[in-house]
Amino acid sequence: MTTDQLQAYLREVHPRINEDELLQEMERHATEHHVPIIDLESARFLQQLIALKGATRILELGTAIGYSAITMALASADGTVTTFERDETRIRDARTFLQKSATKERIELIEGDAFERIEQLQGSYDFLFVDASKGHNIRFVETFSPYLKRGGLMVVDNVLFKGWTYEPSEAPKRLQPLAKKMASFNKWLLLHPQFQTTIHPIGDGMAVAIKQ
Ligand code: SAH
Ligand code: MG
Repeated sequence: MTTDQLQAYLREVHPRINEDELLQEMERHATEHHVPIIDLESARFLQQLIALKGATRILELGTAIGYSAITMALASADGTVTTFERDETRIRDARTFLQKSATKERIELIEGDAFERIEQLQGSYDFLFVDASKGHNIRFVETFSPYLKRGGLMVVDNVLFKGWTYEPSEAPKRLQPLAKKMASFNKWLLLHPQFQTTIHPIGDGMAVAIKQ
């Protein structure tokens, strides 16, 4: 069995429970406009981690059109999601979709570059989802993990980058520097004394780190 077959199986076997039309509409939008939203099994995994943790203060870096933000808000009955997005088109689309969601009151979208808008954050968080520009993951973790409570969970998406973090030379030439950067991020995170980290081959690969 190849990894692709395994992934196709996982996608197919996870049932679409509790899912409204909206998320499916967003999936179609993402496919059509090439927006890199989390995979279905990654969505389930995020929801399970949020439920296990009982997380109610969730911080996200990289909203795109709001798919993972709504997914995470749905996992926590009264939790709030604070999320950053800098791309104007995506901000506009995210606002349109959020408006249609029952979770809209619980999601705060902060517009602009996350590094520049960090002063908008208030208090600390028990869950941090890092899914912004992959080449800056070390800087994202260093800058935003101080806002994560001790014992809080951090999840980083796309850490396997289609398998190219394992074999950067298999990536298209222009993506090889990024694949190498992401591979060194993984090593950096796995050895980081402040985090207890495991990497899971779910979706495009997700790192789960507990802040010590
Ligand atoms: N989490 C989303 C997908 C995010 S795609 C989901 O799964 O549904 C990554 C997004 O991060 C892009 O839309 C990009 O514009 C945004 N981004 C990248 N770097 C950023 C930064 N420094 N500040 C704010 N947004 C950023
Ligand atoms: Mg992602």
